[in-house]
Amino acid sequence: MTERLPEPLRKKIADRLAFYEDLGIRFFYRDRSPSPHEVLSSPASVSHSSVQEESTLPKPVRMPALQKTSPTMPPKLVPAPLPVAAGPSLFEATEKIVGDTLLRVREDLGECTRCKLHSTRRTIVFGDGNPKAELVFVGEGPGADEDAQGLPFVGRAGKLLTQMIEAMGLQRRDVYICNVVKCRPPENRQPDDDEVTTCSPFLFRQLDVIAPKVIVCLGAVAAKTLLQTNRGISQFRGQWLEFRGRKLLATYHPAYLLRNPNAKGEVWKDLQKVMAVLGLEVKKGKSA
Ligand code: SF4
Repeated sequence: MTERLPEPLRKKIADRLAFYEDLGIRFFYRDRSPSPHEVLSSPASVSHSSVQEESTLPKPVRMPALQKTSPTMPPKLVPAPLPVAAGPSLFEATEKIVGDTLLRVREDLGECTRCKLHSTRRTIVFGDGNPKAELVFVGEGPGADEDAQGLPFVGRAGKLLTQMIEAMGLQRRDVYICNVVKCRPPENRQPDDDEVTTCSPFLFRQLDVIAPKVIVCLGAVAAKTLLQTNRGISQFRGQWLEFRGRKLLATYHPAYLLRNPNAKGEVWKDLQKVMAVLGLEVKKGKSA
């Protein structure tokens, strides 16, 4: 006899599945790994299973965020569309969505109310620029000007970013610019962890679709989100790192440069490293 779930739990699960569908995750797979009892009763299987899991697990950069939002649903509720044990994990499904496009990401975002930032925003600031850019700049979140215009980096910090891009020998239309959260945090505060966790999967999809050669994180929030680290940005600023196989470099946010113009030299050195990777001519002494 099928046991009927309590209505509140059914609704919670339905909401969570709808959320994943918005993120482009449409298939779930039953975990057919041995039960804890089976594993414990066979030491050999413990080591084999551990090694196998370790080699197939995704890089740790995404798991903590996903674990925070993963539904705790009993395995018997999870549909298993493929009659095989092996299938993409939830993480892998999130990581790559075949045929995804920026338009689809934007449509899935919709008139988003998934986090509390929706209640104070005027406009969702999705992103702007070349959808096939080799270089993507990722900032923290929209400010007042961006919220009003619906475009990223159009205020004072944005003007400085434009100068930096032009100093690299590029135009804004050559690159893609977006933020970790798409709605303005009130009073320009930093986005809260739950807001970043809720919104960042859409950023990950944007980056997957654009598939740039280089991602430049502007400021600590972007860097920490993509690298899933709590280390201070000064510890890895200007170093080549990786996000899902793409080169990533973190540098200071233009808003920080407006307050600390002396740091412009360091940022220019970082951008020169990016230019070298992109094959852009490095002109000595030129900086924003
Ligand atoms: S910040 Fe992101 S998750 Fe939050 S309401 Fe805006 S679009 Fe939705």
